[in-house]
Amino acid sequence: MLRLQAPLPDRYTLATADELESWIRAAKQARGDELLILGHHYQRPEVIRWADQRGDSFKLAQFAADNHQATDIVFCGVHFMAESADILTADHQRVVLPDLNAGCSMADMADIDQVEEAWEEIAAVTDIGRLVPITYMNSSAALKAFVGEHGGAVCTSSNARAVLEWAFTKGDKVLFFPDQHLGRNTGHQMGYDESHMRVWDPHHDLGGLDERAVKETTFLLWKGWCTVHQRFQTAHIEQFRAEHPGGEVIVHPECRHDVVEIADKVGSTERILEWVEAAPPGAVLGIGTEIHMVQRMASEHPDKTVVSLDPLVCPCSTMFRIDEPHLAWCLESLVRGEIVNQIVVPEATAAWSRVALERMLELTGQPAPARVD
Ligand code: SF4
Repeated sequence: MLRLQAPLPDRYTLATADELESWIRAAKQARGDELLILGHHYQRPEVIRWADQRGDSFKLAQFAADNHQATDIVFCGVHFMAESADILTADHQRVVLPDLNAGCSMADMADIDQVEEAWEEIAAVTDIGRLVPITYMNSSAALKAFVGEHGGAVCTSSNARAVLEWAFTKGDKVLFFPDQHLGRNTGHQMGYDESHMRVWDPHHDLGGLDERAVKETTFLLWKGWCTVHQRFQTAHIEQFRAEHPGGEVIVHPECRHDVVEIADKVGSTERILEWVEAAPPGAVLGIGTEIHMVQRMASEHPDKTVVSLDPLVCPCSTMFRIDEPHLAWCLESLVRGEIVNQIVVPEATAAWSRVALERMLELTGQPAPARVD
């Protein structure tokens, strides 16, 4: 998806690190409780240090919704995360993304036109009433609205199994987007094998499948992936285990299935953090997730050895676009009363997205954030 971030004024691009620090600090003080800076776990250190709350995308959106005093939410994450925050927060709260080019390559692999087209193609060859659409949190608001309107739900990496189990009480097959790996890994966890799964390639007629495959498949998995997590290979795990006999391998479920299959533990970013925190002193942990998060866990737990499974650095390049110059620019603009880079989800889309998110919360037994308009 094309998004255009206007170039920053020279004041920010030419600023020294000390200047940026003092401007951000002053802006935070000036806005007080009305400002909330949210930092995703994958953010670079010089940005995350300013966050009032760290978390994964859904936790941060809920945190913003629960903090009604904050009118300006600066989301140091990527575009779909800011959209989710706008969907869940009240009308008096504005969500700002410091750099509009901070998208998510995985979320961008499924756009609403492609999904609507896929839905029509599948409807032409099978009973669409038995197909339940499920979208991962890492998707645009338009896709969340689509699943809300078509009887489906959103899922996160920690509740994907519960959401898919619910889906099979509503139908007998799912269209899962945009991450094929989370869908496949969860399907395997539920006892299905590859014969129940097919990849839907949106760039081919009927997803590159034949009619029979579409009719018979239980999991239609959208051909999307995370450029960060797909990098991890089984060879990385073998190398780590050779170097650290007794070490533990923990990976994210956006990793490929062969990687997930041989890992010791598989969990969301929040679960990975919990496991690292709970590990005893002296533990050696090889982690398969974004490098900034791995490096932060390593520095915050000096009594443990926490390393990335991939010896080459693997940052989330879109998240990396959020830097101190953009943060300082948007904060100083807010102090002047000027709203830049506000992310606004149209109300009709937001309403159906909330339906999909509330279904997820209900079936996983979590309370929905209270919107105070
Ligand atoms: S780590 Fe992957 S899924 Fe997460 S924002 Fe980056 S590209 Fe998207």
